[in-house]
Amino acid sequence: MLYSPGSAGLERVVGVFSELGNEYEEVVFFHDPPSGLRAIVAIHSTALGPALGGTRFYPFDSEEDALVDVLRLARGMTYKAAAGGLDLGGGKAVIIGDPQRDKSEELLRAYGRFIDSLGGRYVTAEDVGTSRPDMDVLRRETRWVTGVSKRLGGSGDPSPVTAYGVFQGLRACVEEALRASSLEGVRVVVQGAGKVGAALIRHLVEAGGVVSVADVDVDAVAHVVAEHGVETVDPAKAHAVECDVFAPCALGAVIRDDTLAELKCRVVAGAANNQLQRPEHAQALQEMGILYAPDFVINAGGLINVADELGGYDRERAMAKVEGIYRTLRDVFRRARLEGITPSRAAERLAEDRIATVGRVRLLWVPPR
Ligand code: NAD
Repeated sequence: MLYSPGSAGLERVVGVFSELGNEYEEVVFFHDPPSGLRAIVAIHSTALGPALGGTRFYPFDSEEDALVDVLRLARGMTYKAAAGGLDLGGGKAVIIGDPQRDKSEELLRAYGRFIDSLGGRYVTAEDVGTSRPDMDVLRRETRWVTGVSKRLGGSGDPSPVTAYGVFQGLRACVEEALRASSLEGVRVVVQGAGKVGAALIRHLVEAGGVVSVADVDVDAVAHVVAEHGVETVDPAKAHAVECDVFAPCALGAVIRDDTLAELKCRVVAGAANNQLQRPEHAQALQEMGILYAPDFVINAGGLINVADELGGYDRERAMAKVEGIYRTLRDVFRRARLEGITPSRAAERLAEDRIATVGRVRLLWVPPR
């Protein structure tokens, strides 16, 4: 037991504080034995605003695994929100359990009440193992939840907005790497024709891109081929196709030691989370002369969309904010060039600068409104 009282337990608690370093503001453990709820909320930073991040419902092998995951994911959300220009901090939550077996109204409502007790310092959303109907249940106990149904003021499926953001980001990528002012004639391989990939393909085709698609799901491929007449490629070798842009829109860790050597593209830019298996792969791409659009910048459309719910959702306003991904990526690439660093590091520095500067301004006292 990680937190059992007694000397052994206390040692572990000391271990947790050192694990948090100087970074995390607050880590809360929620426990409601009758419903079986065991949840951890990690608030990494509220320097820019409330910590927004989804709730992952997952059968972790151990409580330690759950803690490590929630800490890592919360930190990532701080960087994503800051680089996305949002007035939001970073946080994340995990519920330990099997969503198929353990999810119940009682458990979700207990969780909702706990979220409410944080008074808006943490705002939740859906993630792996949770869905929109779950968010609707949480809403009955707290207003600090996004991604609810439209009838409750929600923003609906974020995927088209994410795809639009990726498309805007691709414009910045081809400008930087190909010196092209549009996507006309640009050869793009889209890996994954799911909710984001299919919507991205539509934007690319409309912009005159030459698109190929790879998906392990034959129906998903058939759908986009019928709609847009695009070429198909073998999903096992999508990364190895000669093209201008390889757009991962399926799984994470597609850029790794074995795939790197086979890449024949000039840009890697897509919606998938955690595209690099290890951070060093950013440097490896740079050395190969391949431009990489940091995933947490180019795929921030979904977050930008859901964050808009906090001000009363307006799709047009959300789309306009998502267009900013183009400019953000241009700034990232420029900084990377000037400072001789990878775009991933440049994006982190951009986020860190915003947290330091805007975060400081937000410490100034103003009378309550
Ligand atoms: P999705 O499940 O709708 O689509 C994923 C597609 O990838 C599916 O069609 C699946 O068959 C395909 N696929 C799986 N394995 C594959 C493989 N080996 N090769 C080729 N295709 C494969 O998911 P989505 O919502 O479109 O999200 C795609 C990616 O973008 C995910 O990594 C997700 O985390 C990330 N993302 C999505 C959003 C969003 O708004 N939906 C936001 C940010 C990031």
